[in-house]
Amino acid sequence: MAFLDGKTMLEHARQHQYGVGAFSAHNAETIAAIIEAAEEKRAPIMIQIGQKVIQTLGLRQMKAMVDSFAENATVPIAIHLDHSRQFEQTMEAIQLGFQSVMFDGSARTFEENATITDHVVKAARALGIGSEGEIGKIGGTEDDITVDEKDALITTTAEAVEFVTATDVDYLAVSIGTAHGIYKETPNLRFDRLEEIAAAVQRPIVLHGGSDVPDEQVQRAIQLGVSKINVDTELRQAYTYGLQQYMASNPTDIVLANSLGAGKEVMKQKVMEKIDVFGSAGKAEELVVTTREKVVTL
Ligand SMILES: [Zn+2]
Repeated sequence: MAFLDGKTMLEHARQHQYGVGAFSAHNAETIAAIIEAAEEKRAPIMIQIGQKVIQTLGLRQMKAMVDSFAENATVPIAIHLDHSRQFEQTMEAIQLGFQSVMFDGSARTFEENATITDHVVKAARALGIGSEGEIGKIGGTEDDITVDEKDALITTTAEAVEFVTATDVDYLAVSIGTAHGIYKETPNLRFDRLEEIAAAVQRPIVLHGGSDVPDEQVQRAIQLGVSKINVDTELRQAYTYGLQQYMASNPTDIVLANSLGAGKEVMKQKVMEKIDVFGSAGKAEELVVTTREKVVTL
């Protein structure tokens, strides 16, 4: 048991009020760090492939690499395409066998975003793949695209409902006060809006910009309906710190397995910490059983 579609995974998380960590991978060591942490914590996870690494290494190459690390895993894993802004790329990921895809049309008009997301949902659903859409603009910088704070808008309940009605997307990313990248000051999530949206749309909510949001705020968000938390910045910080520490102590060591491996160990600890905060530790077995029961009763 390794691969599981994103919808089944996140619906389970929503019903049982825990959060699935969606951790971004950037190379072989970061993939290994995420999977080893999930195995030790017995947690279902998503491994995200983002736009930056697609530009530098390639979508197909990253997917193949995650597959080779994940195929013998014993916890449920969904490989997720993060922030795709092109329909063609989203379709390519579906063709490659991702378990979850996000089309992000939040920079487009509402109509364009809804129309393209609707096409993505239909294609993904026909193949049993989970789909994520975004409504409202999340602030900060991700993959070279910056949303100014003044443009980052808190998603309204009405637009969330309208978007879900138009697309029937499986899970929804909303803007409730988080930002991508490093925070200038501690964020304060809009719990009132989150609660209202989650109750109105009745499906898992996705929290982007999950790095450095205080643990209590993340846990409260999970209680109110967040089922997927994206973490990238904090993991890259951890990895880089491990690498830098190693090179500072061993400045002439050019055995990359050593230096890159040191980054991996620090990042793995951070992933394990996040899994504990999200409450997904030990949920792997529960989810496997639930999934099997679902198959039996079909
Ligand atoms: Zn994001």
